[in-house]
Amino acid sequence: MPELPEVEVTRRGLAPQLAGRVISGIAVREPRLRWPIDAGVRGLIGRTVKAVHRRGKYLLVDCGDGHLILHLGMSGSLRVLPPGTPAGKHDHFDLEFGDRILRLRDPRRFGAVLWAPGDAMQHRLLAHLGIEPLSRDLDPRRLHTLTRGHRTAIKLFLMDARRIVGVGNIYASESLFRAGINPRMRAGRLSLDKSRKLSAAIKQTLTKAIRAGGSTLRDFVGSDGNSGYFQQRHLVYDREGQPCRRCGVKIRRLVQGQRSTFFCPGCQK
Ligand SMILES: [Zn+2]
Repeated sequence: MPELPEVEVTRRGLAPQLAGRVISGIAVREPRLRWPIDAGVRGLIGRTVKAVHRRGKYLLVDCGDGHLILHLGMSGSLRVLPPGTPAGKHDHFDLEFGDRILRLRDPRRFGAVLWAPGDAMQHRLLAHLGIEPLSRDLDPRRLHTLTRGHRTAIKLFLMDARRIVGVGNIYASESLFRAGINPRMRAGRLSLDKSRKLSAAIKQTLTKAIRAGGSTLRDFVGSDGNSGYFQQRHLVYDREGQPCRRCGVKIRRLVQGQRSTFFCPGCQK
């Protein structure tokens, strides 16, 4: 599943390919994604892409007076290809630009293509989203304030997109390990000192993943291969029973909110 780092790397790859170009056509081969593809996207023809932004895991193709909102869902990927490239079975949507096309491939069809006129931040999918972890909005004091009064486990708090966006299951486990925090600790018990460690750990974990993606995903423009999700060397995630890379104690797994959490009982007391 594409996480924030994959979406951010996709954004960085797409932005220079699309910015300043005029949309010359739209191809909808299968409108039934997570929500039906907006009929309104036809109105995009003739508009110029100003920029490509990201909010959480949503990509926002800025067309001046509105945004095309793209979400990769469970299995989606975006590629820039030469015009006329034959579409595969799962290539449901193209945005055409004369000399290139932006193609959405989404085998499981949980992705989204929606047109948001006006202020995209007020769109129903975006309005409730929490703070961006890579922005200055996430700092030790803000994280400390946000967690006050919350009895939920810190791991689940981190994954709640209404608080902080884009810290998925893998990155929550990895960040808590880096910060030396037990994933079961109540969010409301996070001290200011731990908050400092955790906000830095979240940024570091996501930044490292983006960097890894930048090198492994360089060919996503123009290539027509597989999904291109990153392969990473995790500290604790998916390492149950293996020795901690720091202290050698065996990594343990527990289930929180129906999801696996991995942690080191030695480093995360
Ligand atoms: Zn350890």
